[in-house]
Amino acid sequence: MQRVPPSQAIFAASQTSLFAPSSLASSLASSASPAASASAVNVPRAFLDLARLVCCHTDLHRFDLLYRLLWRLQTQRALLDDAADVDVCYARRLEKNVHRDVHKMHAFVRFREIKGTDSDDRDRFVAFHRPDFFVVKEATPFFARRFPEMCWSIMTPKGSAFFVDGVLGFGDAVHHDEFDGVDDAEALWRTYYAAIYNPARANPDAMRTEMPQKHWRTLPEARLIPGLLQEAARRTSRYVDASGPEGAGARPFIPRGRPSLAQLHQAAVRCTGCALATTTTTYCPTQVVVGEGPADAQLVIVGEQPGDEEDLVGRPFVGPAGRLLDELLAEAGLDRAALYLTNTVKHFRHELVPSTSASTSTIVQIEKTKKQRLHQRPTAADVKACRPWLESEIAAIEPRVIVCLGQTAARALVEPRFEVGVGRGEVLTTSFAPQTIVTWHPAAVLRAEPAQRLTLRAQLLDDLRLAAKTLLMSAPM
Ligand code: URA
Ligand code: SF4
Repeated sequence: MQRVPPSQAIFAASQTSLFAPSSLASSLASSASPAASASAVNVPRAFLDLARLVCCHTDLHRFDLLYRLLWRLQTQRALLDDAADVDVCYARRLEKNVHRDVHKMHAFVRFREIKGTDSDDRDRFVAFHRPDFFVVKEATPFFARRFPEMCWSIMTPKGSAFFVDGVLGFGDAVHHDEFDGVDDAEALWRTYYAAIYNPARANPDAMRTEMPQKHWRTLPEARLIPGLLQEAARRTSRYVDASGPEGAGARPFIPRGRPSLAQLHQAAVRCTGCALATTTTTYCPTQVVVGEGPADAQLVIVGEQPGDEEDLVGRPFVGPAGRLLDELLAEAGLDRAALYLTNTVKHFRHELVPSTSASTSTIVQIEKTKKQRLHQRPTAADVKACRPWLESEIAAIEPRVIVCLGQTAARALVEPRFEVGVGRGEVLTTSFAPQTIVTWHPAAVLRAEPAQRLTLRAQLLDDLRLAAKTLLMSAPM
């Protein structure tokens, strides 16, 4: 680092280069490494995470901003904790924009299949997408994990990604006119969409007004929607008839016998056992978020319900509460990949409210309407309706230890009037597991007043450590 003060630094990086963002991020990373020269800068890990995302933005001032932060961090070590600082605030806003764009890419990319034409005659899947920012590198590893066996590419005007033989590579920008329309592949996709379309979720007003227009252009199914909506009312009544009286709960959807975890996950996707399946208050319908983890997990952690990000991504505990949980699991010596994480209710209950400020933590802010999805606690009726899924998951896994995060899970599994503040931190026996522990929900820690937050965090950590110890002590010889 040449010790050039921020006021004299000029950044000449191309604003359109796909590679500019990551090369800046990696040069920041290498100058921060302990092996760097004597004039090396030292930065907290959190800055690198922040810089990586801010670099993806298109804001013209992003590099000056990051350099200024880097400079200031040399003397103000806790700068990033100061949420009121103008630079920190600005950087967080850019980070949030990028984060949201990554999630939109996850939610809106639609692949079309192209039959093999090259020498190896392999089928390929291609998609065109229009991100706001340079998020291709940030967002595509998700698809690599999700479709590890496929050959696919995602082309965008801000760079492209290719996944061939398990290797993810990146290429230049592609503009939509260059993207050769593959009509047969589109027809195939539309047929597929019509087959899986769940009309019970159709809310015409929401679809028309809230789905970002920009994405409609590249979603082949958009052309089908008017026709599907016309049919929706008729088909919905068929669905309701087929699933028993309205509000009958999840029971009719549970496969017979003793279903495996995989069978349960497959079946849950079709559940319309309560009204939460049909609340389409946003541009994209909510989805069932099933549990995640190995079928022979010894520890099951049960949360409340998927949140905003979990609903978009389709995985439990990937939002802010999930990130805190990850941190605490690691501190308690528990490996997330070895345990099973699930929720008491599998759909996201929320309300649409006018967006209050630019700094809301909700990732889905519907641009045109300036609304956001605000979490609502599931009702006792929701819990009752969804309970068969949770019971069946636990029966399939037979864990030795269950940890209930928060009141909803505790009341579902331990006792209907359970108070977390009174009964947490004890090893209890329930009909679901010989050892059940209740603790705070990580979202309660995030919501707590600053004065209380550290205490709740410490208690949640203690309880996870208790779970780790209980697991160890009850291990079969
Ligand atoms: N809160 C929960 O209870 N579950 C999730 O999956 C995310 C947040
Ligand atoms: Fe089914 Fe549960 Fe979703 Fe209700 S919340 S529709 S019971 S999965």
